[in-house]
Amino acid sequence: MTGRGDGTRVVHAGLPAPVPGEPFLPGPVFAAPYHLDPVEGPGENGYGRPDNPTRRALESAIGELEGGTVRAFASGQAAVTALLLSVLRSGDTVALPSDGYFTIRAFAEGTLRGLGVRTVLVPTAGPYPSFEGVRLVLLETPANPGLDVCDVRAVSAAAHAAGALVAVDNTTSTPLGQRPLELGADVVVASGSKALTGHSDVLLGYVASADEDLIARVTTWRAQTGGVPGAFDCWLAHRSMATLDLRLARQNANAAAVAELLAGRGDVTGLRWPGRETDPSYPVASGQMRRIPGIVSFDLGSAERVGRFLTAAELVFAATSFGGLHTTADRRAQWGDDTAPGFVRLSCGIEDTADLIADLAAALDRA
Ligand SMILES: *Cc1c(COP(=O)(O)O)cnc(C)c1O
Repeated sequence: MTGRGDGTRVVHAGLPAPVPGEPFLPGPVFAAPYHLDPVEGPGENGYGRPDNPTRRALESAIGELEGGTVRAFASGQAAVTALLLSVLRSGDTVALPSDGYFTIRAFAEGTLRGLGVRTVLVPTAGPYPSFEGVRLVLLETPANPGLDVCDVRAVSAAAHAAGALVAVDNTTSTPLGQRPLELGADVVVASGSKALTGHSDVLLGYVASADEDLIARVTTWRAQTGGVPGAFDCWLAHRSMATLDLRLARQNANAAAVAELLAGRGDVTGLRWPGRETDPSYPVASGQMRRIPGIVSFDLGSAERVGRFLTAAELVFAATSFGGLHTTADRRAQWGDDTAPGFVRLSCGIEDTADLIADLAAALDRA
């Protein structure tokens, strides 16, 4: 499907060649052990932890979009920690975003520190330090939840010059929003629990890379530690990915309208959306990204005002996570994230734009 548009690519990604009488997307294969050839022993499918055809189909679908070989995991955290633990050794230094997904920092400050791995925290928007002596640089762009963006090409070149490996967390953008491997990164990690699958019903993660040695290490890690996604979740994820192009298009249109609404209100501060020309992320995002995600962040001043806003809004569910069909808003500070008490990450769903804007405006007036 190379050379085809995004909508075509996601509809066909990872599907087997047509066979009369067979479904387009084969159903989930539920198996712990499989029948073995009593003489030859294991073939492609021996045991469910290393081998599952439903998972392989999903991996080939994501791999087509990212441009690398994919290994799927039970969650984004399982994927990120698999990469960190299969690459880093005692005495190594890892560079992590200071403003990225907070559980990754918590893992570094706890488990990695205990294993003798040093962490340097770097803000996504820079300035970036010298990468001399750094083993792995993990970037997250746009960063969750603050939506700063970093120049993957420039940071990868600097990191490679110092001998470091570069990973990009592609969760917020999805492979239709940017392809980090083409921008110079060595490996992608991501949560598939967010926009990639988009129906708020699956936990999933993946590692993608064209470096087959690295993929071999991650594959061994996964086979031995066992954090694999179940067959039904892989099937749900694969089915959901077919609409990724349509979902992202509506989420993006809704976010543009929401950002416009919020920019015109005197009672909202700290508005961020990388698709707005006045946003600090805009210059790098517009050169590097193929689309801007439907996530907008802003500050309503206090936890109480956020509470009144979410109670008044009929089309905005109070919920964490992002990238789903339904518009949701999360006051990040309630999770112990180091954001201001009134900071909100709003994830635009696929509702009609006019309805969403009217609901948000009315809820802000009442809050
Ligand atoms: C949610 C998230 C993760 C973790 O993914 P899970 O599927 O929740 O484990 C990692 N990175 C980013 C940027 C995320 O938003």
